[in-house]
Amino acid sequence: MKETQTILSLITQSASLLERAGVDTPRLDAELLLADLLGVGRAHLYAHPEQELDTDVLREFLRRLERRAKREPLAYILGRAEFYGLEFTVTPDVLVPRPETEVLVEAILARAPQTVADIGTGSGCIAVAVAVNLPRAQVWATDISEGALRIARENARRHHVADRVHFLQGDLLQPLAGLRLDVVASNPPYVAESERLSLQPEVRDWEPPQALFTGADPLQFHRRLAAEAHFHLREGGWLMVEVGMGQAEAVASLLEEAGYRQVRIQNDLAGIGRVVEGQYSPK
Ligand code: SAM
Ligand code: GLN
Repeated sequence: MKETQTILSLITQSASLLERAGVDTPRLDAELLLADLLGVGRAHLYAHPEQELDTDVLREFLRRLERRAKREPLAYILGRAEFYGLEFTVTPDVLVPRPETEVLVEAILARAPQTVADIGTGSGCIAVAVAVNLPRAQVWATDISEGALRIARENARRHHVADRVHFLQGDLLQPLAGLRLDVVASNPPYVAESERLSLQPEVRDWEPPQALFTGADPLQFHRRLAAEAHFHLREGGWLMVEVGMGQAEAVASLLEEAGYRQVRIQNDLAGIGRVVEGQYSPK
């Protein structure tokens, strides 16, 4: 690339480089990288296409562009992602929050619970979004990964809910010993090892494998949650889990077989069964 560049020429060239690298939204990503570096909104780029860029800015931009061309997720390069209208710190220690997971947050909020567990909290996006939107709720957020819990704690502080979100490290429901809550929710890993090659490089090569893969049985976490969550639910409480494409019916059956009532599937915006919920009501 040339030594001197205007905003427009840089974006045009960068977009075509990212396109050749196979990035889905090359121009948007180039714009977001540059806007972030300049500390401006994208509108500024359109308003000042002929603005010349300093060599320092250019050098740093090219470093970041190269990372994106290697298919590192934009969220890791920017260090943040938006979820449920809130901004979250993200690093390679955590899964990048997905828009479809907002369906799970909606399902939780719809029950107006006072006590909630978020199992496998990752960035803390579910736990923090729930705590922000239910100002009286107490939330327990667990993960097996200490690195993820560090980021999740930071996100709880960032959104001023650290006093009501309690972070615990451990395997699945084990950290909840002795607690009975209104809602136990989870977006657990659900990608079968056999699907690894079909994933986008951004996911396959950069996100924590521990957040995604389940080995041979893609539903192993859902099975364990269905079998064990009732020990941590009060009577009438709800188990709510996110599922992968094509898994909703099987997970609904798991909940029914485990004795949950009113089992229901909720779709995401793409019409894919995404959240399965059921109520614990012992006879
Ligand atoms: N809740 C976040 C979200 O929706 O973006 C992250 C979900 S990610 C799909 C699954 C999370 O479960 C990861 O953070 C991973 O570290 C955690 N995890 C994996 N195995 C676990 C286990 N046995 N016990 C607790 N957490 C686990
Ligand atoms: N939805 C994620 C993906 O895009 C998977 C997250 C999960 O396993 N819970 O691959």
